[in-house]
Amino acid sequence: MPTVYIDEIAKFQGQEVTLQGWVYNKTAKGKLIFLMLRDGTGLIQAVMFRDTVGDALFESTLALTQESSVRITGTVSEDKRAKGGFELQVSTLEVVHLAAEYPISPKEHGIDFLMEHRHLWLRSSLQHAVLKVRHEIISACRDYFDNMNFTLIDAPIFTPAAAEGTSTLFETNYFEDKAYLTQSGQLYMEAAAMAFGKVYCFGPTFRAEKSKTRRHLTEFWMIEPEVAFCDLEGDMELAEGLICAIVERVLDKRREELKRLERDLSKLECIRKPFPRLDYEDAAQILKEENSQFVYGDDLGAPDETIISARYDRPVMVTHYPAGVKAFYMKRDPERPDRALCVDLLAPEGYGEIIGGGQREDDLDTLLSRIHEHQLPVENYDWYLDLRKFGSVPHAGFGLGLERTVTWICGLQHIRETIPFPRTISRIYP
Ligand code: ATP
Ligand code: MG
Repeated sequence: MPTVYIDEIAKFQGQEVTLQGWVYNKTAKGKLIFLMLRDGTGLIQAVMFRDTVGDALFESTLALTQESSVRITGTVSEDKRAKGGFELQVSTLEVVHLAAEYPISPKEHGIDFLMEHRHLWLRSSLQHAVLKVRHEIISACRDYFDNMNFTLIDAPIFTPAAAEGTSTLFETNYFEDKAYLTQSGQLYMEAAAMAFGKVYCFGPTFRAEKSKTRRHLTEFWMIEPEVAFCDLEGDMELAEGLICAIVERVLDKRREELKRLERDLSKLECIRKPFPRLDYEDAAQILKEENSQFVYGDDLGAPDETIISARYDRPVMVTHYPAGVKAFYMKRDPERPDRALCVDLLAPEGYGEIIGGGQREDDLDTLLSRIHEHQLPVENYDWYLDLRKFGSVPHAGFGLGLERTVTWICGLQHIRETIPFPRTISRIYP
């Protein structure tokens, strides 16, 4: 008799199979027990009759607690009314472990309580849906780049210096020295692009974000492509294509999960190329019209991004920010040297920035003077400067924040549920 998973149950209609999982729910009615079984791939109702299984098994099943683990053998039957369309007529049941009183019940719990029990909360159906969508987005990103012959090159986690400014660096001891947890794999991807042409990395990045926001984690995952012989325009097309590939994939494969999350699918269905493009000037004009606190010349704050992205039904790309608010490696616009050849992609419905990127400075002397202007220790960047000495070429790339993307795709209010075990300024447990 085959041991199977719930998501493949349709293939076994009329047959006897064994399922292994956890008791999600139990109701008893006279000589009947309905068990809702969860196995990670789905939910199915198992029906047990006292007359079929005998008194002893019936009584021990009645005593099963929520989240007890079991092996159930029974016959698969079609039931149009049941979730998933199938039901299991139980012939026997083996208790693997009788669970202690489970702390999470269907009643409303506060977010702190749920986060404290994150290791158990992952079993709940909404959390399950979010992480299934996350998985699908990861897979869509990898396929997008792999299908275009990009090479995956892993960036290091321990780094000797900052990539994105020193205020959010996590410092750690490294034998007799100090090291920092990586904030971005970009600089390493630039080296890799000169070796492989088209590359990407996908890994965890760390930023000591000291303010509590709905968009910031201290540990988050970034997918960072970098392409040799690519300019800002090429970079934007790459970003646009990636977002469309992600949306297409989740609509194809994770519709059910998105519906469970009560996501308005029409908001995703209308996303297609081309995305509107705004120069920083245009963005500033919109913010002025909307009476934002925004100060011309500054970076856009989260509320500003919300105002702009709420105006469009597709992602918006904002380009050419003042060079002063961007990192040292950004190439400047030759026609407007106070502007950077950069792009931020803002997700619609007010979600704000999910991608930051641009063209990199490829001239050795210019880059050196930027490093000095930013008062960065030049000796840390010797290897990076080498890339401008040995066949320097125009190149560009970007970073897509995975969790922000999941937040938007799932239509969530807060980033904390988009990663299995979130790390924030106030949480490092469990
Ligand atoms: P913000 O201004 O919102 O803090 P940033 O300008 O610091 O973002 P980048 O350095 O451009 O962001 O990083 C690239 C992408 O990484 C961002 O577009 C975002 O999706 C993601 N990201 C950055 N910081 C965080 C964070 N603390 N938590 C989650 N995702 C982040
Ligand atoms: Mg930041």
